Amino acid sequence: MNQITNLAEEVIARCRELATFSEDSGSIRRTFLSPPMRDVHREIAHWLEPLGVQVQVDAAGNLRALYPAEDTSLPRLLIGSHLDTVPNAGAFDGILGVVLAVALLQGLRGRKLPYVIEIVGFSEEEGVRFGVPFIGSRALVGRLDEKLMSTQDAHGISVRRAIEEFGLNPREIAQSAVQDDVCGYLEFHIEQGPVLEKLGLPLGVVEAIAGQSRLEFTFVGHANHAGTTPMNLRFDAVTGAAEWITLVERFAKETPGLVATVGSVQTMPGAVNVIAQEARLSLDVRHANDDVRLRAVDEMIHHAQEIAHRRGLSVHYRTHMNQQAVPMSPFLSEQIEEAVRKAGCEPHRMVSGAGHDAMILAERVPSAMIFLRTPGGISHDPAESVAVNDVAKAIECGLYLLEQLASETTFQRRTCRA
Ligand SMILES: [Zn+2]
Repeated sequence: MNQITNLAEEVIARCRELATFSEDSGSIRRTFLSPPMRDVHREIAHWLEPLGVQVQVDAAGNLRALYPAEDTSLPRLLIGSHLDTVPNAGAFDGILGVVLAVALLQGLRGRKLPYVIEIVGFSEEEGVRFGVPFIGSRALVGRLDEKLMSTQDAHGISVRRAIEEFGLNPREIAQSAVQDDVCGYLEFHIEQGPVLEKLGLPLGVVEAIAGQSRLEFTFVGHANHAGTTPMNLRFDAVTGAAEWITLVERFAKETPGLVATVGSVQTMPGAVNVIAQEARLSLDVRHANDDVRLRAVDEMIHHAQEIAHRRGLSVHYRTHMNQQAVPMSPFLSEQIEEAVRKAGCEPHRMVSGAGHDAMILAERVPSAMIFLRTPGGISHDPAESVAVNDVAKAIECGLYLLEQLASETTFQRRTCRA
């Protein structure tokens, strides 16, 4: 037990240490294949080598570390998360999942299992440098295509060139893809939200990653003088939009599991003494069930049209994104639940409202996620933190899980989907 607490303290110290490798002085920023990523790779390799683990960096810049099995012909379980960060980041988003995987190997104390464990530290998940997320995990499922390789950052450097400049060979990208010997992917990640804290629980079992719709709505009325136009003779785009926003909120509150956000509002001409002619709004809708989400979006479109019609306005909309929900592996989620119980915690099943590498890996490999309670629900901020006891529970749960999977021969025999 004491050993687990020591490991947990070490995990936190190591996350804080990796946080010092940053592109910015005084705050954390580590984007795709930026120079500090090399320091992170070196440091993690330094921790892993004494455990008999070979560390490599694949052509997409992902750290790949193999902990051998009892036998060379055995399948492979991936455990990982991402090593890149947003600007002004915290020390735990992503990184914790990789450092915790290292702690699990330490916790095995040299014991070999009937499967290889491969730790993966993804090179890119946040989409900061190229505006496209999941570059690292896309390489593992064979989806780092030509278009993405040619995408340029703000300095005109393409993904391909960034890979070359880091000393890697973009022609070897295909070799980063997972092979048929992979039987699963596990990801530990901070929740980045307030739910587990509110429930007083250290760990959550992610059942699915929510599907997402993003739209843009424009309400159009007539601009006019704010002083001379009586209230009953106005065609105010902003008040129409405002009525719709409150309706979106009410609708989401009344639909279990639905979250809907109008995060951006722009008005035209946007002057204090002019009735707005135009209001342009964003809408983000998420749910674990795609039918519920799509019905909600239809409903919101219908309400926007009804409000516009009643107020003598017009409204039009554009759909920017419709991303399907991704269920996690029911088998692995059940195994995690059991392991969480063995660690003395009540497992809480939940949906991840944010995208994660597990969402991409799930395209080819049975995937699962374990959330750790996030103090204050604070993430993507320097104040992001995690409690030692919660990390200890995660390590305990992880070790039970590895043990359970060691006796699940059917699981080990599964191969990933082609
Ligand atoms: Zn993350």
